[in-house]
Amino acid sequence: MTPRADRKKQPERTTECAVCHDQVMEFRCKQCHKPVCDDCAFKIEHGAFCSRECAHTYRDFKGDQKPEPRKRRRTSIVLVAVLLVLAALAILARRMGLVPWLAR
Ligand SMILES: [Zn+2]
Ligand SMILES: [Zn+2]
Repeated sequence: MTPRADRKKQPERTTECAVCHDQVMEFRCKQCHKPVCDDCAFKIEHGAFCSRECAHTYRDFKGDQKPEPRKRRRTSIVLVAVLLVLAALAILARRMGLVPWLAR
């Protein structure tokens, strides 16, 4: 009835690993977009890469954004806030005579 159904069957499109040319690709390098298999992939927290060089290039590029200083800044703000609260508490305690060794 539908003779075209047969033509729809495509040969499985498998891309071979660009590094070893032996296995089917599992990942695509996030830097140069080369197909790599699980064995050849260089994996870091940012993803999979075809080589250590690509991983480093990608990480260096991403590293430009540097999210760390922001975190540190936040910590120091919290620290200052805590110190201020402590100072206020000390002054209050002193005024109310709760700390005899300070109220002298
Ligand atoms: Zn491979
Ligand atoms: Zn690559």
